[in-house]
Amino acid sequence: MATTRLAPATHIPRYGWQDSAACQGADLDLFFGHEGESRRERAEREQRAAALCGGCPVRDACLRHALVVPERYGVWGGTTEEERRELPTGAALATGALPRVRRPHPHEAA
Ligand code: SF4
Repeated sequence: MATTRLAPATHIPRYGWQDSAACQGADLDLFFGHEGESRRERAEREQRAAALCGGCPVRDACLRHALVVPERYGVWGGTTEEERRELPTGAALATGALPRVRRPHPHEAA
């Protein structure tokens, strides 16, 4: 039997901001990689997910959630798990300004 995996905003306990999430109904596989995913596949998937997040009206709330929890896996608030490893995490981020992520241009050398 096929199973449907839902995007981040719909598979965790409900928070008010999730009701406006751009990823509602999106495929979870866009936000979370699969075992054996190549670096190139991962980069392309994360770029597509981040693009969806870029137009999401609750992006800041989602990123704040991901940093406060912290969410170690997947794309949240337009950030990849690798990007979030460089950001502060924890309850201190529950309020106040969020750290900003500089996303390299796709043509920049990795
Ligand atoms: S920022 Fe991205 S992952 Fe978070 S709710 Fe919006 S679309 Fe979903």
